Amino acid sequence: MITLRNINKIYNKGQQNEFQALHDINLQIKKGEMVAIVGKSGAGKSTLLHILACIDGYDEGEYELDGNLIKGMKDRELAKIRNRKIGIVMQDYALVDDFSGIENVMLPLDFSVKPVDGKKKGRTQKKKIAMEALKNVEMEEFGKNPVKELSGGQKQRVAIARAIVNNPGLLLADEPTGALDTKTSDDIMRLLKRLNEQGTTIVIITHDMEVASRCDRKIVIEDGRIMSNPPNY
Ligand code: ADP
Repeated sequence: MITLRNINKIYNKGQQNEFQALHDINLQIKKGEMVAIVGKSGAGKSTLLHILACIDGYDEGEYELDGNLIKGMKDRELAKIRNRKIGIVMQDYALVDDFSGIENVMLPLDFSVKPVDGKKKGRTQKKKIAMEALKNVEMEEFGKNPVKELSGGQKQRVAIARAIVNNPGLLLADEPTGALDTKTSDDIMRLLKRLNEQGTTIVIITHDMEVASRCDRKIVIEDGRIMSNPPNY
C-alpha cells in the first residue's frame, strides 16, 4: 500500500533556520496492516504523517501510494488522491461544531473533486451514505445532534465516520485517543481494529503504549530516523 524510499524532509531550506526533520526514511506498509508510529515529541511523527496524507511534500526520495508515485503532482491531483484513498483522524476531531454529525460526515462527499464512482450524488443519496458510515461507528442515533453536544468519544466516532465515508483504503490517525479517557480510548481502539479487520490499512501516531501494543507493528522514530533496533517502548 505504502512504500517510502529514502525520504528526506527539510524545513526552511536554504534559510538560517533550516532543519532536517526526516532522514532517509525507508518504510513499507502492506495492505491490511495496522501500524503504530511512536517516538518522543519532536521526533518527526507528524511530519511523516503529513507526507503520507499527501498534505505536505518532501525534498528527496520517493513515496508510492497504492501504485501512484506521489511527487510533482498538482494540488488538484493530490486532493483527488486524498479524497479517494485516504481518511484522516485528528486528536482534536477537527469537526464543524455547529453542524450535526451527519452534516460533518457528508462534507467529504460534498468536496469530492470528482465523484468516486463517476456519478454525481444528490443530497438524499449523500445523507444515506453518511448514515451508513455513522452506523459503522455505532453513532446512527446521534446523527442529527450538533456535534458540540457530543462527548469526546462520540465526536471521535463521528470524525472516524467522516474519514471512512468515501471508503478509503488507508486511514491515518494522529493521536486519535490523545484527548480521551482510558475506557473511551479502548472503545475507539476496538472500533479502529474492526475497521482494520474490514480491510482498511491503518497508521496511528501515538504516545500511548497501550494503543501501540494493539497494532500489528510499531515503528519507532527518533530524531527524524526510523530506529532499526528500537528501545523497548
Ligand atoms: P512530532 O510529531 O514527532 O512531535 P514533528 O513532525 O511535529 O514531530 O516535528 C519534527 C521536527 O520538525 C521538530 O523539531 C519540529 O520543531 C520541526 N518542525 C515541524 N514543523 C515545522 C515547520 N513547519 N517549520 C520548521 N520546523 C518544523
